[in-house]
Amino acid sequence: MDFSRAIIEFLGIQDVIIEDIKRFKKDLRLEIKVRQKRSECFCPHCGLQFSSVKEWALREVKAPPLGVYQVVLLKFWQMRGYCEDCQCTAVARADWLHPKFESMTCGFAEVAGRLMEEITCEAVSRILKSDSKLMWNLDQHRMEVMLQFLRLPKDIDVSYLCADEVHFRSIKNKDRKGLFAKRYTPKFVTNLVSPSKGKVLFNSMGRDSAALTTALTVLSPGQKLAVEKFAVDMHEPFISAIKKQCPNADVVIDRFHLAQQINKAFDQVRKAEFKKARGRKDIFQEGMLEPHRRFVLVSRDADLSKSEMKLIDKLRLANKEIQCSMLMVEYFHKALDEKTVAGFRKVLARWYQLCRNTRYEPFLKFAKTLRNYRKNIEAYITSRLTTAVIEGLNNKIKVLRRMGYGYTNEVSFMRKILQRCGYLNHLSINTDEFFFKWPNPA
Ligand SMILES: [Zn+2]
Repeated sequence: MDFSRAIIEFLGIQDVIIEDIKRFKKDLRLEIKVRQKRSECFCPHCGLQFSSVKEWALREVKAPPLGVYQVVLLKFWQMRGYCEDCQCTAVARADWLHPKFESMTCGFAEVAGRLMEEITCEAVSRILKSDSKLMWNLDQHRMEVMLQFLRLPKDIDVSYLCADEVHFRSIKNKDRKGLFAKRYTPKFVTNLVSPSKGKVLFNSMGRDSAALTTALTVLSPGQKLAVEKFAVDMHEPFISAIKKQCPNADVVIDRFHLAQQINKAFDQVRKAEFKKARGRKDIFQEGMLEPHRRFVLVSRDADLSKSEMKLIDKLRLANKEIQCSMLMVEYFHKALDEKTVAGFRKVLARWYQLCRNTRYEPFLKFAKTLRNYRKNIEAYITSRLTTAVIEGLNNKIKVLRRMGYGYTNEVSFMRKILQRCGYLNHLSINTDEFFFKWPNPA
């Protein structure tokens, strides 16, 4: 193979002649002058060869890095020809030019796209010396195109699934009518998760029945029937959607969602106590009860130093409400640790007792919800579904949301979740062809 044909192949371009290569060793930059092969120039309307060349137009196109040369710029001479059959002049197509982002080759777009599956658009724009907004747009476009190729892996085990909503952001309401109109509307995304794979299978906007039903469209009718256990939050719309879509599934309220709920109840007590401490200018308690400490107080396996443990013990001695609430959380986890339904019921009965004695409104409310979902919680005790995966995924999504200050809408947030935590990436979808020719969006 001769040298210039090799270079053309390495760049992922076709049907051109290399006329010149300029090397800038100082900043490891290449400038390659390429011209379309006349014999390969066809009218975009009829597909026949042009009868004559009208003009050659120069454009600059970014190509993927070539070895140690990190910046490769093509000086591309593109032909405008005259077609006798169509009686018009037109630009000869080049498949390797990106159809939407014409300042780059498909190869460059795919190199950038694969990087953006792992790191932020800003980071990629620095690595590839490109505009970050352009990179962001490319990422969006690529995810949209790839969505049509999204397939679940053949070996996926659907007997156990999980649905979970994540808060996207709260939109400020523009026209607030009436005194009690809400100032913010929270926006949610519902994720369908396979705990055995630790992946998000699909997702959709909102957190109602319709949202989960939409997320479930990724499953075939047979797969829907094969679902045996479905772990969700104590959220009625989800449960009714599962009953309709997956009639053979047992709805399980799992530990992760229960812990979420009781932590919420604890947080309400903490908030009230925080305000009280501030009111009486109790600096120690105010500091201990600050919002950012809320997880430290209830998490069971937080890595606490000895001095921190001492501080918490001091707080528990000083504040009876917090002491009792922390006990309630701990005791509830003890109930969930029980291996049998009978054992669980026994410990939970004592927990209810504690609840009635202390009379904290948030916990009483939580107890009421527990009663309604008793069967689903006991299903957790017998099935012992692990929830570490879901917690891990949720953390990953939270990080995504933090980094994603560029997410202007739910759609891009949803896609990004599928890309980073699911199957919308080149590890699951073969995009090797993308280096040479970009598929059309569906
Ligand atoms: Zn033509």
